Amino acid sequence: MEPVTPQMLTETAKKVLEKQQYRVIGSHSAVKTCGWTKKMVKGEGGCYKLKFYGIMSHQCLQMTTSISCANRCTFCWRDYKAPVGKEWKWETDDPEMILKGSVKAHHDLLVGFKGNPNANKSLFNKSKEVKHVALSLTGEPIIYPRINELLDLFNKEMISTFLVTNAQYPDQIRDLKPVTQLYISLDAPNKELLRKVDAPLFKDYWEKLLLSLDYMAGKKHRTCIRLTIVKGMNDVEPENYALLIKRGNPDFLEVKAYMFVGASKGRLKKENMPWHEEIVDFTKRLMEYLPDYEIVSEHIPSRVVMVAKKKFKQNGSWNTWIDFPKYHELVNSGNEFTAMDYLAKTLQVGLSGRKIREEVEAKKKAEQEKVFVNENTEELEFWKEDTKQD
Ligand code: SF4
Repeated sequence: MEPVTPQMLTETAKKVLEKQQYRVIGSHSAVKTCGWTKKMVKGEGGCYKLKFYGIMSHQCLQMTTSISCANRCTFCWRDYKAPVGKEWKWETDDPEMILKGSVKAHHDLLVGFKGNPNANKSLFNKSKEVKHVALSLTGEPIIYPRINELLDLFNKEMISTFLVTNAQYPDQIRDLKPVTQLYISLDAPNKELLRKVDAPLFKDYWEKLLLSLDYMAGKKHRTCIRLTIVKGMNDVEPENYALLIKRGNPDFLEVKAYMFVGASKGRLKKENMPWHEEIVDFTKRLMEYLPDYEIVSEHIPSRVVMVAKKKFKQNGSWNTWIDFPKYHELVNSGNEFTAMDYLAKTLQVGLSGRKIREEVEAKKKAEQEKVFVNENTEELEFWKEDTKQD
């Protein structure tokens, strides 16, 4: 009898995911509607990748090709019960099935907006055409053995690809076909702290990270390093982060606050979530060691700051947005091209200087004052009204 290839997810694990609003595609992929996609359909604004790169949040499919991961990051919203593993040992699904199944599941999840009075009709109608895929939902998408075939299909469908990897599979990074923007998560500035923050399965996790950065540096297309800052944990040693960033030589950096959500709430405290202004301060400290880069923009609701290589500033204007039609033309031509060949002008740049902590605290105070009698308002004057009526 031939040995049976194991499935990544048990039936129970699938049911748990479905309950959490994931849709499992085949045996190892999943889709979940991004909160920003829903917001955009309601006309409430887009995600930071809209502001930074021109991603239309209402036309974005959020998915992964592998629920399994080789890390158990402290800040991740995944439960520790989610599958982990170092090597791919599971049944492998067909890329075309994954693409079609994911797009269908994405539409099914959004169908509730049809006729919903809170939805913007035009944006909802446009959401039916998927233009972007964020391969970053959960797990490690790059270990899916047929990832390159899937990327080819996305390219042919004119769907842009943003792929995030945790830098534990350098060979896959080296061999990866062009993606619109390739991300590496850089979660700590030194080996010991990375072990603490990411709880990696691989013993040579640090060497794998370094090699991944080397391969990233060799990429011709757009690359980005993302730092997820956990206050009191990895918000240290900007000079060592800078050394690693120089090694990966990305086009962009995103310095983002850890968000106190999902299963991470059981591992971290709300106090570990930095305020936006703390992210701005940390990015400014980082900039002291990165003379080739400049801060471009911020997205306050996501508590993230975007930094770009100075070459993206041309004639005084930033060009961090993506010319998507151009990208698709280039990638489908089979010819060589670089990150500088599909640029578009960034619509909004700069830092607001807002102090969110003060704003939130003032708002909270005002809320509390509503509950109690405020002697500075007319609330105590009600007796006058009563007297008038007598
Ligand atoms: S790019 Fe990311 S944050 Fe923006 S809509 Fe897509 S999945 Fe959501």
